Order: sequence, then C-alpha cells, then structure tokens
Amino acid sequence: MKTVLVGIGQAGGKLADRILEFDHERGYMSVKDALAINSAKADLKSLSIDSVLIGQARVKGHGVGGDNELGAEIMEADLAEVQEKLGERVTAEAESIILTTGLGGGTGSGGTPVLARRLTEIYDIPVYVLAILPGTEESNLTQVNAGRSLKTITKTADATIVIDNDAWKSTGESLSDGYETINQQIAKRVGLLLAAGEGSAGVGESVVDSSEVINTLQAGGLAAIGYNQVPAAESTEENITTVRTATRSAVLSGLSLTGETAAEAALLVVTGEPDRISRKGVETSRRWLEDETGSMQVRGGDFPMDSDHIGSLVVLGGLQQSDRIDGFFQRASEAAAAPTETEDESDKLFQNDEIDGL
Ligand code: GDP
Repeated sequence: MKTVLVGIGQAGGKLADRILEFDHERGYMSVKDALAINSAKADLKSLSIDSVLIGQARVKGHGVGGDNELGAEIMEADLAEVQEKLGERVTAEAESIILTTGLGGGTGSGGTPVLARRLTEIYDIPVYVLAILPGTEESNLTQVNAGRSLKTITKTADATIVIDNDAWKSTGESLSDGYETINQQIAKRVGLLLAAGEGSAGVGESVVDSSEVINTLQAGGLAAIGYNQVPAAESTEENITTVRTATRSAVLSGLSLTGETAAEAALLVVTGEPDRISRKGVETSRRWLEDETGSMQVRGGDFPMDSDHIGSLVVLGGLQQSDRIDGFFQRASEAAAAPTETEDESDKLFQNDEIDGL
C-alpha cells in the first residue's frame, strides 16, 4: 500500500523515520514520502526525513512542553504551511496517509487530531493514525493528554492503530533504549503490512492487495497489529503447525494492544518462502482467527520472502472492546478530575471539553 507518513511530535517523528528506514532498507519502497512536524527544533535534528517546524511565532522552536492545547493551537495556526508541504508529497499514487504520534505529549497529542481532521476533509484516500498509548507508569498529565487526544482522533481518522508502550516494554532497559526497541518493532510490523499490501500478483499463491488492508480497517475505531515468526521446517506438511503457532502467538502475545481480541474484521498475512507455507496451515489459522475475533470477515494472503522463518502478521480492525483501553480512559478521567500537582494544566486543558469528563 503506497503511503505517505507524517510524524507529529518527537515520538511521531522518530516512528515515521524508522518505518521509512525499514521500508527502504528492505527495498519495498511502499513509503512514498515522509514528513516530520514538530514545534521543538532540537527534536527534528536527528531525523533523516524532511520536516516542518510549527508554532515558531508562539514557542520559538522550544516546543510546547506537555501543553497539548497549545499543540492543537499551533497546528491550527500553521495548517496552511503543513498542507502545502504535504500537498507536494501526497501524489495520485498514494493509497493512504498515516500519521504517527505519541498520544501523551504536547505537539503530537494536540496537533494530530487537528491535522487528521483537515486531511480527511481534503483527501479521498484513508487517513490512519498510528497512536502510541503511554505506559501505565507515566504521569497523570500524560494520561489525561492521551485520553483526550485518543477520543478526538478516533472520531476523525479512518482508523486508529494503537500501540501500547506497555505491551512491548522489556525489563532492564532504559527508557530510551526501550523506546528504540519498540520503535523498531512497530516499524517492522507496519513496514511489512504496507509492503504486503502491494500484492505483486503471480509470485505467491495468494497475495494481499491494498484494498484488503483498507477493508480490514474500514470498520474504523481502534485497530491493533501483531506479528510473530517461527523457524520454518523443510517440508510444507510440517509447517501446518508452524503457521498456526505463528498466528496464535501474533494475536495472543504479539499484539500492539493486549487484551480483548473481539474485532469486526481481521487480516492475516503469512510471510516466508512460498513453497514452505502450508495452505492447510493458513486455512486453519484463518478459521482460528474467525473464532478468536468473532468475525466472519477474515481476509488473508501470503507475503513471499526469502527467509528460514514463517511469520504471521495480523491486523484486527474495529476492535470491540479492550480492558487496557477501558482502564486507560478510566484513569485519564480520574486524573483529569483529581486535584494534583498538574491541576493547573489539567484545568486548562479541559475547560471547554464536552466528552465524558475527558
Ligand atoms: P511531543 O513531542 O510533545 O508530541 O511529545 P512526545 O512525542 O515526546 O510524546 C510523549 C509520549 O510519547 C510519552 O508519553 C511516551 O509515551 C511516548 N514516547 C516518547 N518517545 C517515544 C519513542 O521514541 N517511542 C515510543 N514508543 N514512545 C515514545
């Protein structure tokens, strides 16, 4: 699926950069272009993709701190410039636009809903948001920012793929090392999904094309992405269980948002050498996914690649429920209501907010 990436804020910029890097290193070239948007000049320096510095008149390149209302205001004020920069990149070839963002900060948290709304008004192609949910140990202000941002984004974007920072956190890593690991894992999953959606017919037995990715995400609301790979056996027959194991672990332990797996639609992409991928394994895995998600809309196909592993990439679209998300909104609402050291910011942020205490 030919895509233009837009990274907003620090985390968003890094993520867009990593996804483009993965895509180009593997030679897939599904990412047509990428742009980073930030109000903090320093955060743009380390990125290899083009960038726009917004809010210079207000914050002079120093960022908005954790003030996501200011983040929204400066995006609104500089929309014309952002639109112009994006207009050069979103050519007729593009099949989707993906905004990447950390929900808990300021620039990405506030700016992403504003930009998503504008882009859905302008373009016919779907606008997706790849949204990083803050870890449970992050501050109350972060949870509040993220809660409000996520609510607004899901009302506007065609689908919101949620990445839970807690889902991939490994013990013993520093925060920045941990982030880098997470970013690379996300880049691999999203990069594979975009490349698989290119569907080069005639190579695999059944390939995926961009319409299948789009249809899976069409349910809107929240989506999740999962991946797992298992060493492949020599014979196709032996790989019946390999495909099943890869698929089950992609969903049960490799998903970007852990918890409930009930969904309106799902997509299963099996990666590996075409003559090692077991058709029977793929068929039974699809049936398992139907049972697991409660959806009869399970699409699928292969993504042929030179590898001694078989991998399963799973996308769940229109997630019905998630304990993690429910708990997150609960905590964000409580944090918004509670008088804490962040009271001033919280009050300011929610003065004119009409949504369920968020
Ligand atoms: P902004 O620049 O004001 O938009 O703020 P950030 O992008 O730094 O967003 C802050 C949130 O994003 C934090 O609460 C973290 O949850 C998350 N975050 C920051 N950097 C990274 C990163 O590199 N990777 C991941 N996965 N999450 C990050």
